[in-house]
Amino acid sequence: MDRKTWMYGIKRASNEYLHNLKEFLKVAENHRVNKGECDIWCPCKKCQNCQKLSDLNAIEEHLLIEGFMNGYTRWSQHGELLIDHSTVDVGSNYDDMDDSQDDVRDNLDEMLDDIEGDVPDNDYEKFQQLIEDSEKPLYDGCTKFTKLSAVLKLFNLKANNGWSDKSFTEILEAINEMLPEGNE
Ligand SMILES: [Zn+2]
Repeated sequence: MDRKTWMYGIKRASNEYLHNLKEFLKVAENHRVNKGECDIWCPCKKCQNCQKLSDLNAIEEHLLIEGFMNGYTRWSQHGELLIDHSTVDVGSNYDDMDDSQDDVRDNLDEMLDDIEGDVPDNDYEKFQQLIEDSEKPLYDGCTKFTKLSAVLKLFNLKANNGWSDKSFTEILEAINEMLPEGNE
């Protein structure tokens, strides 16, 4: 699956996204170590590579909840300086490409992403709702998990153990039955 497809074209709860996300985190972590830095730029839709985070798990959460910022198929802030994996074509001479051309390419990618409408219209509303819900306790009197932290914990288990979407849904239903009435 090419980078553009998994980063922007599939559900973020899917195993493909979760698996590829781990690969991105590895690249980002390697780059951090190579540069001897403490923090990693977060390329999520909200941070847009303008905010550095020290916690790799926090970046994973951002990329799960918000997804990648548009047009970021060349991971330039995470060590990939010359190769755009989404648009590599044989014969192009990337060595000749200066910064301004690079910017044009990035902007073009962004525009194309916008036109293609990779984000469904109701995604933003869903996201708003998620933020509003994120601080709610999982159920009345629960102090250990908020709705969001519970969801993230489950997503991580899903990713680490390769649960199928079907088994994930069934587990969520089972947990729902076990929790007190009116849980989130
Ligand atoms: Zn972020």
